[in-house]
Amino acid sequence: MSRPTEITIDLNALVANTQYAQSLSPDSQTVAVIKADAYGHGAIEIAKALQQQVTMFAVSSLEEAMELREQGIMLPVLLLEGCFSADELIIASNQRFSVVMHNHEQVQMLHVLGIEQRIDVWIKVDTGMHRLGFPIEKVVDVFSQLKAAAQVDNVILMTHLSVADEQHNPFTESQLNHFAQCRKNIETQFDVAMPCSIANSAGISAWPSARSQWNRPGIMLYGVSPFMHDDTMQSQLQPVMTFTSKVIALRNVLKGESVGYGNTWQAKEDSVVATVAVGYGDGYPRNAKLGTPVLVNGQRAKLCGRVSMDMITIDVTGLIDIKIDSEVELWGKNLLANEVATWANTIGYELVTRMPKRTRRRII
Ligand code: PLP
Repeated sequence: MSRPTEITIDLNALVANTQYAQSLSPDSQTVAVIKADAYGHGAIEIAKALQQQVTMFAVSSLEEAMELREQGIMLPVLLLEGCFSADELIIASNQRFSVVMHNHEQVQMLHVLGIEQRIDVWIKVDTGMHRLGFPIEKVVDVFSQLKAAAQVDNVILMTHLSVADEQHNPFTESQLNHFAQCRKNIETQFDVAMPCSIANSAGISAWPSARSQWNRPGIMLYGVSPFMHDDTMQSQLQPVMTFTSKVIALRNVLKGESVGYGNTWQAKEDSVVATVAVGYGDGYPRNAKLGTPVLVNGQRAKLCGRVSMDMITIDVTGLIDIKIDSEVELWGKNLLANEVATWANTIGYELVTRMPKRTRRRII
């Protein structure tokens, strides 16, 4: 028997979530963010399922984009970090990838392209996140250089929001204002209508003025809300990944006895403990705290004992009909990744994204 630990990827849920994102911003085009192996869901399968639904894909690097092409995905692809060498830029242009440019070195690199190798450039504006992007006061100059470059086809103005998931944080308003000013400067000075891209999932949902010609949803497509503690959006989404395993051992533990590495959990009463075939080597977070919820045969149980590489232990005292082979859901359709993430001091994004190779992926 093979290891019973797997993720199930529900492509109908993915399509429904995408349609929901589009319904919030019907005048926008969708750039589906499928970097990091589509947040751990499998970039190729996700891209194939979405290629009729969206206008473009976004990935981090040229390698990720090439993987899509090699598997026959021909939709436009945006490289969110852009190119870091002349060779990369030439390949990107030959493949008709679009590139983000966020520093002067990338703009300077354009001269390596022949004029027949034209490329679309997304100028990244730093409106306050201070991670990537040109300072606002430099953007007119960058735009002017790109307009003058024979190798550049379309230019799109973009930024990224740093706290869009905090629905009352005025910082987003300030980022949006800075961006609007920047756009206006270009439009006035060059007499052009500037295509723009601002919103990630949280932006699409909570900040109507962040919706623009191109939206860039990621996490919401996978059915995980960017808002950790607000169920409004989550109730509209369907989790795409469900992470499951099975009980492989059951034992009675007497009051006072401990379980797992470090003896961190002691039974407060005579208890029944089930061992489940999933650990941090399968993508379950090692720092999940004692008490983290798990579903076993549809009933809530609590993590007891430390997470090992290949196993966890759960307290199933008083639960009905728990046996070896009972089904366990770690997160997914019936237990939100964000709830488990809270217990592990992280976010749903991280849980789904760091699925290792050994966890089998089943597509439905
Ligand atoms: N745009 C950029 C530049 C990003 O880096 C990301 C993800 O980190 C996204 C959009 C998608 O964000 P989210 O997954 O929060 O929708």
